[in-house]
Amino acid sequence: MFSVETTTYHILLHWGLYVATMSFDLFPDPHYHVSCGRRRSISSSFLVPAMHPGFPGYLGNGYAPQGPERSPRYRRRRGAGSRRGSFQISYDNISSYSSSSQVRQSPTEWASSTKWEELDDAYFQSYSQIGIHEEMIKDHVRTETYRNAIMRHQNLISGKVVMDVGCGTGILSIFCALAGARRVYAIEASDIAVQASEVVKANNLSDKVIVIHERVEKVSIQEKVDVIISEWMGYMLLYESMLSSVIFARDNWLKQGGLILPSHATLYMAPITHSERYSDSIDFWRDVYGIDMSVMLPLAKQCAFEEPSIETISAENVLTWPFVVKFVDCYTVTARELESITTKYNLTSMLRAPLHGFAFWFDAEFNGPSTFPSNNNLLSGSSTSDLYSNVYNNQRRQKAKSDQVLMLSTAPEDEPTHWQQTILYLYEPIEVIQDQTIEGSITLSQSRENPRFLNIHLEYSSGGRSFIKESIMR
Ligand code: SAH
Repeated sequence: MFSVETTTYHILLHWGLYVATMSFDLFPDPHYHVSCGRRRSISSSFLVPAMHPGFPGYLGNGYAPQGPERSPRYRRRRGAGSRRGSFQISYDNISSYSSSSQVRQSPTEWASSTKWEELDDAYFQSYSQIGIHEEMIKDHVRTETYRNAIMRHQNLISGKVVMDVGCGTGILSIFCALAGARRVYAIEASDIAVQASEVVKANNLSDKVIVIHERVEKVSIQEKVDVIISEWMGYMLLYESMLSSVIFARDNWLKQGGLILPSHATLYMAPITHSERYSDSIDFWRDVYGIDMSVMLPLAKQCAFEEPSIETISAENVLTWPFVVKFVDCYTVTARELESITTKYNLTSMLRAPLHGFAFWFDAEFNGPSTFPSNNNLLSGSSTSDLYSNVYNNQRRQKAKSDQVLMLSTAPEDEPTHWQQTILYLYEPIEVIQDQTIEGSITLSQSRENPRFLNIHLEYSSGGRSFIKESIMR
């Protein structure tokens, strides 16, 4: 029997032109609802007209809104300039946004529809700021791996036509031009395209690199391309849902047998122990200048662990072999299959330690066309055993070491990147002993609220207890 440990539900309410987003717990504990700053800031930024005592989310605890703030709020997840930060949207100006069928539009339709363009304004607005590009470019693991990948495939790029999906400041397009590309279509929907164009001009590459300030879904060019390059990976690989745009570009503009960089990507997950982090945020309240403030614990847990946390952990935090949540072959993946992904897992703890949560990370490979077609079958199974994880990880390490495969890794054991790792903390740690089984399932689905957001449904069991954690990455 499952007990619902973290039951945060996000409900869309329609009221006139406003859509309210709010959270509540299924079995409310009054302590959990008093003043979690982040939560209050979410609810107070929207009109919440349906918070009446009969409504299941009603708590009567000061959680009621102060009235709508009309301007959009763009929150960054980890301070200003942070990459792939949260792009908060305001629905205030979207008069046509009233039918739930619009919300349920599939990503395939969504990627090319005009309805979502207004919602995406917030997303592209976040990429028009220089800080986010500075952070990405300064991430030398990321940028140098891309540059190496371009040079590694120079024979397939030189003299050829390239499309850079989401060129940002134009850096990858310029690398491709320097590698000898005959023409590069540098597509960028955000206003940073203006600067990209100037950078191209300043480097005397305007005859080769054509910057197009437009969503790739709306671009029309005169020719098909030999190569698609894109840096589309978000937190937990899939946050932002930018891969759908690469799929669109592939299906519409890539020549048969063309090259896609990166070619493959894999999302991993593993249980972790992280006592320091837990103490910092939670145990701290037990003794504050000699005062027992443990009554703050439930609220502290909710505020600290309600949403996924972007932070860097190390290999020592990881309790089991990682397992594969999703393997993506960029040559064959469909937008439909990214709508919802479910994977079961069954893992064995290598240590005696408190289980504090689950970490997610990814790697991206830069291979030639369809070098590993059979991997798809191997890796997209619905369950993952330890044996399988071992085999996979050995393969992965061999691949990473081999000269044949170029890999961009965001794993805890590798050099940190700006993606860090994404951690889903449990409200209550579970003590596990060596060889204890940790099993369950993970479902990642695009949010109906906005397909760029990620709903995370985590089921986990260990030592005879079972839990469900629901969260949303927005
Ligand atoms: N290629 C650059 C920027 C990568 S970040 C670099 O490596 O530094 C991803 C970029 O893709 C962002 O600038 C974002 O605005 C852009 N982007 C995302 N979806 C897009 C789409 N559908 N059409 C055009 N640009 C897109």
